[in-house]
Amino acid sequence: MKYPMGVRARAAYLISSRRQTAFEERDRKLDFIQQEHSKVAKLKKEVDRANFLYSHALYLGEDTKELKERADVLQRNLDAQLQEIGLDLTPPFTCPVCEDRGKVDGKYCTCMKQLMNRIIREQLSDPYQSDQYTFDTFDLDLCEPAARPVMGRILQAAKGYAERFARTNASLLFLGATGLGKTHLSLAIAQKVADTGHPVIYASAPRLLGRLESAKFKDDPEAEAYRQAVYSCDLLVVDDLGAEMGTRYTQAEVYDLINARLNETLATIINTNLTPEEISARYTDRVLSRLVGAYTVVSFKGKDVRIKKRLEGNGRGHKDG
Ligand SMILES: [Zn+2]
Repeated sequence: MKYPMGVRARAAYLISSRRQTAFEERDRKLDFIQQEHSKVAKLKKEVDRANFLYSHALYLGEDTKELKERADVLQRNLDAQLQEIGLDLTPPFTCPVCEDRGKVDGKYCTCMKQLMNRIIREQLSDPYQSDQYTFDTFDLDLCEPAARPVMGRILQAAKGYAERFARTNASLLFLGATGLGKTHLSLAIAQKVADTGHPVIYASAPRLLGRLESAKFKDDPEAEAYRQAVYSCDLLVVDDLGAEMGTRYTQAEVYDLINARLNETLATIINTNLTPEEISARYTDRVLSRLVGAYTVVSFKGKDVRIKKRLEGNGRGHKDG
C-alpha cells in the first residue's frame, strides 16, 4: 500500500535524527583523537586531503591511479593506528545497510518500512501490549489437555503463515469460543508480518466499524486516511467480528471490506466467536459464502484459557478472543 503522508513524514524525520546522532557520535571521537592522539589526528587530516584530491581529479576526468594508491595507503595506515588505540571512526548507524538514509537505490530500506509500520501500529491500530502477544508467549499448557494437540498444530501453522506471508498471502477466519487464544495468535502473526516490512493494521470490529462509519458520513480527514489504510494495508486483523452493533450499515460495510480486500488479494485475518450459522444470520449468506469460499477457516478448540488462568492465579494467559 501507499503509506499515508503523515506516516512517511514522521518516519523520515526519525531516520534523519538517527543519522545525525550517528555523526555526532563520530564527531565526539574525532574531538577525542584531536585532544589525546595528535599523531593520529594529523594522519586523519592527511587521509581527508588525499581523498579530496582523488575525488577532485576523478571529477575532472584526470588520471587518478597514483592519487588513489596514496589515499589507500594512508587509509590503511590510519585504520591500523585507530585499531591500536581501539577506536572506530565509522558513525554508529542504526542501519548499516542504508546508513540511516531510509532508502537504498531509490527504494525504501527495510528499516524505514519497519519504522513506518511501527508508526502505523501506534497511530492506526488499536493499542495493545506488543511484547505480550508473541508466538513465544502463547502457552499451550494453558489449553485444555484434550485440545493441546490441535492447538499445537494451529500454533505451528500460524508461525508458518507469518514466516511465508509474502508468498501465501491467504486470508484466515479464526472461529471458536471466547478465550481460546484467537486474538493472541492473530496479534503474534500481525507483529511478525509487520517486522518483515508489511503495513499491518489491527482493530477490534466495534472500533473499526465506528471509525469507518465516521469516514463515510462525516467530513473527517483523519478517519478518511484510516479508511484508506484499512482498505489497502497488506494485512488487516479484525478482532471479535460480531461484537459491533449490528445495523444495515455495518452489514454492508463488512461485506464491502471483505470483498474489496479479496479482490485486491490483500490478506485479512478475522476472529469471531460467532458460528457459521450466526455469521450467515447476522451478515447474510453472501458474507458467509465469501468467507468460506476464499478464507482458510481455522477452528480453535478447548475451554476458555482465561478462566483456567484465573483459577490458577498465575497471571499468564491469552488475550480475550
Ligand atoms: Zn536502512
